[in-house]
Amino acid sequence: MELDKRNLYNMPWSINESPLGWLEVTDICNINCRGCYRRNRTGHKPINKLREEVLFLKKWRNPDSIAIAGGEPTLHPDILDLIKFISENGMKSLIITNGNGLTEKRLTELGAAGLTGLSFNINATQERPEFKDAGIASRETLDKIRLKYAKMVANAGGLTTGFKIVVDNQTIKDVPGFVQWAINNSGLINSITLVTLRGLPVSGEFEYFTDGKKIDINTKSLGYAISAGEKDKISVTSGDIYKVIKEHFPEYDANSYLGGTADHTSFKWLLGNIILNSRLKMFGSYGKKSMEIIQTFYHLKYGSYLLHMKKRKSGRKIFFLALFDKTLRKTFYKFLKYVFVNPFRLFYRINILNIAVLQAPDVLPDGSCDMCESCPDLCIYEGKLVPSCRLDEYIQYGGLLRVYKSN
Ligand code: SF4
Repeated sequence: MELDKRNLYNMPWSINESPLGWLEVTDICNINCRGCYRRNRTGHKPINKLREEVLFLKKWRNPDSIAIAGGEPTLHPDILDLIKFISENGMKSLIITNGNGLTEKRLTELGAAGLTGLSFNINATQERPEFKDAGIASRETLDKIRLKYAKMVANAGGLTTGFKIVVDNQTIKDVPGFVQWAINNSGLINSITLVTLRGLPVSGEFEYFTDGKKIDINTKSLGYAISAGEKDKISVTSGDIYKVIKEHFPEYDANSYLGGTADHTSFKWLLGNIILNSRLKMFGSYGKKSMEIIQTFYHLKYGSYLLHMKKRKSGRKIFFLALFDKTLRKTFYKFLKYVFVNPFRLFYRINILNIAVLQAPDVLPDGSCDMCESCPDLCIYEGKLVPSCRLDEYIQYGGLLRVYKSN
C-alpha cells in the first residue's frame, strides 16, 4: 500500500500554467482558527484592485478557476461583482469559506452571480458560535454543521460543494469518520480535502532571517508558527493519511500528485477518488491514465488545465475511459457484476467522490523548505506571485523567511 510515483500521474501544472488562480480578497474574518495563515487584519481589498488581480492571474497563470479566499471572503462587500467579473472573463470561481453567517438566500445570489462552488473549512480547531451552543466540537457536532451547509447549498442549486479538514497527529484518528461522513453524503458533496497541519517550528533548532537580518518569530506574530510543545502535531504526512483512508476504504485510491521542491520523496498534493452509486455501493476508483486523458483533453478543448468541475457532470460517463485505464477497468467490472444481478441497479446514480490530500510546506532538518511544486495556490503580493500559505511573511517581513539550522 506504499505510494509509488510511477503508479501516479504527475500533474502537468506549472508556475506558468495552473488550473487555479488564488485570490486573497480580505483578511477580515468572523471566527478564529488555530494555525490560521492570516493573522494580519488589514481589511477588504478594493474591488478595482481585485479586478486587476483577476486579469493578472488570467494573463500569467491561465487558470480554469479562481479560488476566492481570505479571511472570510463572503464578508467582502463586493463579492457578487467580483464573481460576475471572474465569470465574464471565462473562469470558474470557488469560495473558500468557514460558512459562518451563510444563508440559502445568499447562496442563491452567489450562484446567480456565476459562482461555481464552495469549499467549507469546518474544523474542531475553530472558535465557532455553534460550538458555544454544543460546548465541545465533537465529531457529531461537526458532522451536523457540515450537513447543514451541504443541504443549504443543495437547496440553492447549481453549485459544487467540498469540505476541508486539517489533520495533525491527534486528529488523524478522525479521518475514517470524516471520509465515511462524505461517502454517506456523496449525493450532496463532490469533494473532500485533508490538509496536514504545518508551520514554522519555533523550538530553537532553526533560525529565521530576512534580508540577512535575524527575525524572532513566535505564535503571536505568525499564525503558523509552531511552538515546541506542538512540534509533534506537524509530523503527519500525506502518505500517512493515504494509508488510513486506504485501510478503511479499499475502493479509494490516488491517481495523481504534485511533488515537493526540496524532498524527492514527498507527495504535496495527492489526488484520488471513490466511484460509488446513490445507494452508497462503492465500486473502486479511476486511475492515472484517466486523469492524464482528462487533463490533456480538457486542455486541448478549453485551453487550460482542470481542477474544479462544474456541478456534477461526469457520473457514469467516466466508465468510457475504462478502455485506457486498468484501475478503472477493475472498477467497471465490479459495477457490471453488481448490475448483472439486478438490472434495475443500472438506474442508480453514479457519483464520484474526489479526495485530495495536501501536505503543506515542511521545514527539513537542514533548514530547507519543501514547498509544493508548481504551487497552485500562488496569490499576488506587490505584483509578484507568492505562495498564499506564507503570504504573512511577505506582509510582515517583506519576503519569505530564510530558514537556517541553528549552530
Ligand atoms: S506551497 Fe502553495 S500549494 Fe502548497 S500549501 Fe503553500 S500555498 Fe498551498
